[in-house]
Amino acid sequence: MPDLLQIGGITDAMRDRLAERFTIHQATGDYPADAITHIVTNGHDGVPADILANCPNARMAASYGVGYDAIDTDACVERGIIVTHTPDVLNAEVASTAIMLMLTSFRNFLSDEAHARSGNWETQGNAPLSRSADNRRVGILGLGRIGQAIADKLAPFNPDIHYHTRSRKDVPYTYHDTLVDMARAVEVIICITPGGPSTHHIVNADVMEALGPDGTLINVSRGSVIDEAAMVAALQSGTLGYAALDVFEEEPKIPDALKSMSNVILLPHVGSATHETRAAMGTLVVDNLISHLDNGLVISPVPETKHLNG
Ligand code: NDP
Repeated sequence: MPDLLQIGGITDAMRDRLAERFTIHQATGDYPADAITHIVTNGHDGVPADILANCPNARMAASYGVGYDAIDTDACVERGIIVTHTPDVLNAEVASTAIMLMLTSFRNFLSDEAHARSGNWETQGNAPLSRSADNRRVGILGLGRIGQAIADKLAPFNPDIHYHTRSRKDVPYTYHDTLVDMARAVEVIICITPGGPSTHHIVNADVMEALGPDGTLINVSRGSVIDEAAMVAALQSGTLGYAALDVFEEEPKIPDALKSMSNVILLPHVGSATHETRAAMGTLVVDNLISHLDNGLVISPVPETKHLNG
């Protein structure tokens, strides 16, 4: 059987299916580098440069996730390695996560829940009023597969949708060719671009100042998209009103300053983390690997390596 190198954790269901077709080796142990033809990675850990250099006969790397900013696709193309990811199957889940973060932040449900649970309702009376999540001006940073799913799922809340991307899309929303311009026009920004150099810290101090003291910053993309130190400072000074975050610059580390702020919601990168969606992602990862084994073609290559498909 061909030799597969596993980087990071995969699900039992993935391992069971893969074990029928591959001999699986762990990247953390000894592995026969020259024999490795296929790689599976948990996405977060990417494919480290030393592993690429060690495995001259690798031809395919399948990543468990849609974002592949941890993989050096130029290095893979140079070595003739096709890279796959898991687009679309997680759109609905990540969109739900973004919207739940928005609803929870606007309606202040975390402190309301604490108020009810602690008994403070009985001793101190009603919880303070919150902000309505309806009829808001919402800016989507990155209107791709997931960004569009967010716009679709938000529709019943009657939002006025704005967006910023590098290229204008054929959609009935207000386009802004700069992010600062969008930040001035909206009450909440939802970040859902890819990570990597082109989006590194695009949400900077100027963008947060433009979003303003009543503004809400939601991040379900990558921690690198927001200048985290500038965000902490903006939240501390009140230049920015609220933040609801699923992703951070140094995961799993979260700046201590954020943990003590009541105007902030923190999640441990769970945007797609349900049994159902992770199973669908796992199935697509394994389908890609087996398809490559059977006929040399993959189902969902990343755009940079599409030309290697076939
Ligand atoms: P798509 O490729 O479909 O969409 C990306 C969007 O971002 C496009 O609209 C693109 O438009 C825009 N974009 C790209 N670069 C820039 C830039 N420099 N400035 C402004 N806009 C930009 O990706 P998906 O919607 O499938 O996924 C988006 C990301 O979400 C993933 O890459 C991943 O990082 C993150 N994610 C996070 C999850 C979580 O658990 N929190 C789960 C799943 C995904 P244009 O090219 O015109 O600029």
